[in-house]
Amino acid sequence: MLPEFCYLCSPKNQFKRELTAISLLRFHQNRNMSKFKRTLITTALPYANGPIHIGHLAGVYVPADIYARYLRLKNEDVIMIGGSDEHGVPITLKAKNEGITPQDVVDKFHGIIKDSFEKFGISFDVYSRTSAPIHHETAAEFFKKLYDEGKFVEKTSEQYYDEANNQFLADRYIIGTCPKCSFEKAYGDQCESCGTSLSPTELINPTSTISGNQPVLKETTHWYLPLDQYEPWLKEWILEGHKEWKTNVYGQCKSWIDSGLMPRAVTRDLDWGVPVPVEGVEGKVLYVWFDAPIGYISATKELTEDWETYWKDPETRMLHFIGKDNIVFHCIIFPSMLKAEGTYNLPENVPANEFLNLENDKISTSRNWAVWLHEYLEDFPGKEDVLKYVLTANAPETKDNDFTWKDFQNRNNNELVAVLGNFVNRALVLTQKYFDGEVPARGELSDYDKEILAEIAKIKGEVEKSIDNFRIRESLKNAMDLARLGNKYLADEEPWKVVKTDAERVKTIMNICLQITANLTICLEPFLPFSMDKLRGFLNLEKMDWEKLGETELLPTGHKVNKPELLFEKIEDNVIEAQLQKLADTKKANEMAEAKAAPAKENIEFDDFVKMDVRAGTVIECEKVAKTKKLLKLTIDTGIDQRTVVSGIAEYYQPEELIGKQVSILVNLAPKKLRGIESQGMILCAENADGTLSIVSPDKAVKNGSEIR
Ligand SMILES: [Zn+2]
Repeated sequence: MLPEFCYLCSPKNQFKRELTAISLLRFHQNRNMSKFKRTLITTALPYANGPIHIGHLAGVYVPADIYARYLRLKNEDVIMIGGSDEHGVPITLKAKNEGITPQDVVDKFHGIIKDSFEKFGISFDVYSRTSAPIHHETAAEFFKKLYDEGKFVEKTSEQYYDEANNQFLADRYIIGTCPKCSFEKAYGDQCESCGTSLSPTELINPTSTISGNQPVLKETTHWYLPLDQYEPWLKEWILEGHKEWKTNVYGQCKSWIDSGLMPRAVTRDLDWGVPVPVEGVEGKVLYVWFDAPIGYISATKELTEDWETYWKDPETRMLHFIGKDNIVFHCIIFPSMLKAEGTYNLPENVPANEFLNLENDKISTSRNWAVWLHEYLEDFPGKEDVLKYVLTANAPETKDNDFTWKDFQNRNNNELVAVLGNFVNRALVLTQKYFDGEVPARGELSDYDKEILAEIAKIKGEVEKSIDNFRIRESLKNAMDLARLGNKYLADEEPWKVVKTDAERVKTIMNICLQITANLTICLEPFLPFSMDKLRGFLNLEKMDWEKLGETELLPTGHKVNKPELLFEKIEDNVIEAQLQKLADTKKANEMAEAKAAPAKENIEFDDFVKMDVRAGTVIECEKVAKTKKLLKLTIDTGIDQRTVVSGIAEYYQPEELIGKQVSILVNLAPKKLRGIESQGMILCAENADGTLSIVSPDKAVKNGSEIR
């Protein structure tokens, strides 16, 4: 007999420890048959120092949303939790750099994030934030309980202190020279030049970024979660008990556990965060990774008075949707916190995704290398589902994947428009044309008809098999197979030809096409909610439960359908080119920001310098050199004479804007013929990091012929 739930996952039920490892394994293998009564879905809390981008969406929110919508369609009890992570040093640093308060920073980005999620249709049951009072309360209570029960280890150590500002310095507030690569601006926790992770005391010449002074070492006391003590339990719970977790997740956990766990500080000397709720302790807050996951609990409290059922009843299944950078926090640290607390459930699964890259480059908030959700929503109004579709079809489930705008366009045009949109449109348009919008009755079925009807029923099982195992990408493909099936049936049966010879047969064909269309509204609902809503409107149909998927009488004979519009529209090349141009501009701006000046040339003698005769001159005529892109022909009054100069600046200046402008001209450069024109000298320009040219002019007007030296 199988146990009703896993004792390792349910701290309340440790009496079941007598169960053998074998029955435990059988339990996990039969997980899908097990009866959890409800599901709690948590989604990684986005950090409120920037907006949401496609990497966040593909990694966490799109798969979580699809899964939640799927369970809701099955009438299961499910809640999906989200919220902004608003504490931590990067937010205080950003506030300091911009001369605003940390609260201003998080208010701004929480607003942008929440709004864009809503418009994009991520169906959170609650979207909260960790600066909310309910969270401060919940996190403080959680800490206090562990503190009172002696679950922390207290340690005093020396940390850097800024005497001018009377404060301890978080790692990111200290810069110094990297001991590995000698980079002079390495942070206290990491050198961004060579990637080495550091501790502040390893830095050579440490400097406080707040005062610019050299910090001093001063004793401070902090509390640590002794992860080492949880190691044997984690081994049993994950490595033995959760072999069904995704290989990327299981593998990362195994490597963390195998390399040995260390106590981890849960408090920081900082003035932004949840204050440590211990009497006599001032100027300390909970470390952000400690308080953030408790945010899931606070958000559930905000949602429902019944929050404990979702967190403590062993018949609730908890799932954490996260990106791979969060695996250690959600599989090792947070479960250890919950285990230490003792009354909470542990996660049943953590379907973490790998990373999504953008046009072959790592997505980066600081380098602005991203497709930002709020910008997408503006650039592509009404196309929420298209992005959701592309991010799912190309989801980084087992390895890092790449988002390209070309692929976005192809998937829209070749899959959503050509397969799904095309089938639905033909089914509805032909129904209008032949039957005035009324669902015709099916007559006698051919073998092929029967085969097709059987296929519809099969697709339900295929989609479930994938999605139940968090293979969301595969489940979308399975669901789209229904549209492919419809397209194929229509192409094979050719009702537009049959109608000329056998009008009765066309009734059966169109009935089957319409039943497929009705099934699509169920099958694709979790993936394309806006579009399926629209399609139900065309079909004059209410939203239906998942259980109905596969039925072949969803539309009764005589049911009236509406005139359809296009479900998806083609995305043209110029739209894609505009997005690529936006990225190219970003790349250029980044190159400019990162460009370093070329090293100085070898020294020369003054006598060598004075050989160059540079004068101030005024442009009196200017025109483009015919049949060239880059060349301008200028006539310049040099004070000595009027002469012609050919210069490669046509891409940066219009001829008319140069007339009357004073320039610096090298007058004793040997003349040279360019495109048949003799150029008598050279105009001096500064070449910018991106290769653009800028003319060097005297700061104030001077008499033509003045020597420049
Ligand atoms: Zn370094």
